[in-house]
Amino acid sequence: MSSASDRAGALLTIDLDAIAANWRALKRRLVAGADCAAAVKADAYGLGAARVAPALYAAGCRRFFLATIDEAIALRPLVADDAALIVLGGPLPGTSGDFLEHRLWPVLNTPQQVRQWAAVTGPVPPCVIHVDTGMSRLGLASAEIAGLADSIACLRPALVMSHLACSEDASDPMNAAQLGAFAAARMRLPGGGASLANSGGIFLGADYHFDLVRPGAALYGLAPCAEAVPLLRQVVALQGRILQVRDVDSPQTVGYGATHRIRRKGRLATVAAGYADGYLRSLGNRGHGIVGGIRVPVVGRISMDLITFDVTEVPEPLVRPGAFVDLIGPGQTVDDLAAEAGTIGYEILTSLGPRYHRSYVGGPA
Ligand SMILES: *Cc1c(COP(=O)(O)O)cnc(C)c1O
Repeated sequence: MSSASDRAGALLTIDLDAIAANWRALKRRLVAGADCAAAVKADAYGLGAARVAPALYAAGCRRFFLATIDEAIALRPLVADDAALIVLGGPLPGTSGDFLEHRLWPVLNTPQQVRQWAAVTGPVPPCVIHVDTGMSRLGLASAEIAGLADSIACLRPALVMSHLACSEDASDPMNAAQLGAFAAARMRLPGGGASLANSGGIFLGADYHFDLVRPGAALYGLAPCAEAVPLLRQVVALQGRILQVRDVDSPQTVGYGATHRIRRKGRLATVAAGYADGYLRSLGNRGHGIVGGIRVPVVGRISMDLITFDVTEVPEPLVRPGAFVDLIGPGQTVDDLAAEAGTIGYEILTSLGPRYHRSYVGGPA
């Protein structure tokens, strides 16, 4: 019998030690007294929260941010009790009991959520107050804070948080404006810790660190700015298997829509991954793979299950059915691939498909 990796069209390798090393590297950059949490929402940006969160816990991380209640419920049995699981979306109507049962921390984003949580009786987990300072997405508006000051004081929130809109561009005046708005909101709210920075915010400097930073992207090897590049290890490798190699010696076209025309003698390799796997269609005639250190261009459109590369420049023994093209790896980071696709690394990671054969390296013993 074959193994699952023998049968898979592409192999996805996730380095848990690199994630832990990135967490430590970010934590070392923080101002004294600040702690580092981890955003593990969306299944740890597609990399598998069930493996990533325990690896981060082993590295010392004790606070984890999730988007939804069900993400946090799923993670609860996989990390020790002293790990705070913080739900960014907050309590939906009728769900306060789930927060109590699973000892989840709600982020309270709206006056309704503050009132809902204030009505909960008995011993309750800590909560987080989210104030909006410029995202206009979640969080209390400045004008809403006054009317809620008493309820919020009774809740004694563990943290007051806000979220930066432009943290990847240190020169954007939005950063200082949000920092000012956050400081003003904190003056009107009870004490407790404060948290403002995502990955990019960490690199804006000590003023942005407060008590807790909440990186996601940088843990997974995505660099919010040039300064972060040498600090971060790459986490993901993706190898696509060659199904067919074709020598071309007469003019012909490649793929749907016949968008690429071959005019010279050459060689094509067809790889078993496609847009159904999250190899984005925008990479058609734009993306690259790497074989034996040589960059090979995507030719033609990306199909649902197949990608065609022009491998004319690669020595023949390296391109044969069953061999691999590196789609993500040392020579091509997730950020590089995202740039070619016209998107951000976040979308590349969260699109990594279920057909890839996944293996994890490193992690807690
Ligand atoms: C996703 C998210 C983060 C992490 O952001 P990165 O840019 O991935 O570091 C932090 N805070 C909030 C509120 C988020 O939604």
